[in-house]
Amino acid sequence: MCGIVAYTGQREAYPVILKGLKRLEYRGYDSAGVALSEGIGLSVYKKKGKVSQLEESLIGKQLNALSGIGHTRWATHGEPSDRNAHPHRSSNGKLALVHNGIIENYASLKRELVNKGYSFESDTDTEVLLKFIEDIFNHQSESLEEAVRIALRRVVGAYVIILLNEDEPGTLIAARKGSPLVIGIGKGEHFLASDASPIIEYTKEVVYINDYEIAIVKPEELILKNLGNDKVTPFITQLDMELAAIEKGGYTHFMLKEIFEQPTTVFDCLRGRLDAKEGTITMGGVDPHLDKLTNANRIIMLACGTSWHAGLVAEYVFEELCRIPVEVEYASEFRYRNPVIKEGDIIMAISQSGETADTLVAMDMAKKQGAFLFGVVNVVGSSISRMSHAGTYTHAGPEIGVASTKAFTAQLTVLMMIAMKVAYAKGTIDQKRYLHLIRELDSVPGKIEVILETNEQLKKIAERYKDARDFLYLGRGYNFPIALEGALKLKEISYIHAEGYPAAEMKHGPIALVEEKLPVVFVATKDAYHDKIISNAQEIKARKGKVLAVISEGDDAFASLADETLPVPVADELIAPLLTVIPLQLLAYYIGNAKGLDVDKPRNLAKSVTVE
Ligand code: GLU
Repeated sequence: MCGIVAYTGQREAYPVILKGLKRLEYRGYDSAGVALSEGIGLSVYKKKGKVSQLEESLIGKQLNALSGIGHTRWATHGEPSDRNAHPHRSSNGKLALVHNGIIENYASLKRELVNKGYSFESDTDTEVLLKFIEDIFNHQSESLEEAVRIALRRVVGAYVIILLNEDEPGTLIAARKGSPLVIGIGKGEHFLASDASPIIEYTKEVVYINDYEIAIVKPEELILKNLGNDKVTPFITQLDMELAAIEKGGYTHFMLKEIFEQPTTVFDCLRGRLDAKEGTITMGGVDPHLDKLTNANRIIMLACGTSWHAGLVAEYVFEELCRIPVEVEYASEFRYRNPVIKEGDIIMAISQSGETADTLVAMDMAKKQGAFLFGVVNVVGSSISRMSHAGTYTHAGPEIGVASTKAFTAQLTVLMMIAMKVAYAKGTIDQKRYLHLIRELDSVPGKIEVILETNEQLKKIAERYKDARDFLYLGRGYNFPIALEGALKLKEISYIHAEGYPAAEMKHGPIALVEEKLPVVFVATKDAYHDKIISNAQEIKARKGKVLAVISEGDDAFASLADETLPVPVADELIAPLLTVIPLQLLAYYIGNAKGLDVDKPRNLAKSVTVE
């Protein structure tokens, strides 16, 4: 997600920062900018688009500065634009700030500042933080460092920040909580970055900053303190890596990196919304429209591809919890039908990119017929988010691998939270069930971590089945859409023909395919239909098919008839899809990889389908 680079020392800062930003490009971003402490003062240059566009716009400019900060932004608050790009400037123009992350309580801080007469040039939470620091600096503190400390004690959220002060060129103030920051130590110079890739060519000595630490960085000196103003001894480590390995954070492919990010992305998606201790779910995009949702006559999910599968899981969840009828539509079909849309219908448009062409047209059509549009998208400021009346961002961070993984689990997380909220407000679930589901959802990141530990085992299973010609995926209930998603992942990445079916449908056709060489993947965690799906697996075994089973840990009955088991931790059946999809993502990845295919860019596919 987004990147930060900063420099202070004896070199020209701009080329170091620019090169660093390019090294961080793999993280994904939508705009870029730099602030330089030049002889004449502080200059800020920023632009929507690629780092190379920023670079082009600065050709021919004299950029003589020995310190500076740079940023690639991945918008969370406010659309990608020149205005919202970082660095931001304080009201008096003397401070510049770059920030990665989210300031969750920015709205209340902003109200305070507006009451004091501050105005804002961007829609970002970052500018709010900067002006909050500025206000403290001007009125309550002796130094900028102290102002940062006071401000951060009031801030809720995740951040890395780096501040540049016109009056103290050469001094950078950095802090972190929840997002990464590395400081490279050179001779009479320091390099700061979101990861080691911009630093490694200059020095191998680095300090990883911990949460709640503030670094005061000068060319010759690095001082670390905690928020209580106590000094902390910097712990210097040696980088033991080569440049090539860290471009993707050490992973061979973005897809694998993104699969492994899921404990964090699901956590990020829950953060600031689901509070397991208090037993509450707060969603800024949902709360003001709760009445609309509780009174909905019908919800129509509009989506394509993997997002359509998220919609299918949501259908089961909304109908079960909220007792609202749900239809899940392929946007591409919906737009060309003459669908019946009535007042009181809610359209939920689900899309990672927020630019899916078919979904956009279908939404437009529904809007004209009076439907209320609710968007569930990952990319902030995207067309779908702008067209919707209301919506929720999934906060999964940039997804680069063409096959969607972490965006899918973030969509499921958001949709489940909405369903739980609506159901509780409507009274269709009682407090006991509500609190139970909150706890279950809260435990998902930890459970995904447990599944990711079975990685090596999945790699071996992939080796054994990589030459199969076809795969069948079967599931029931909440796990049926996961069977579809597992099949889609395999098709996309390995080019093996794969089909997903509801397990009970097997007898109505697909069973004709079963023979010795056919792997059949069952998504069969313990739920109300468990005995039924065990019978289905027996039917496959009786015809000599191979059974690969995603089952709950400790399910010996199913394990005894499976050729391969892919166990996941026990969870409420409603939450299970968030877990069962993980081994299927890994299986697809390792099969594609074992076949030597370019899993990040499968043939013929595009990341976001912006044409019909
Ligand atoms: N929340 C900030 C913004 O929307 C920072 C986003 C980032 O991490 O790039 O501008």
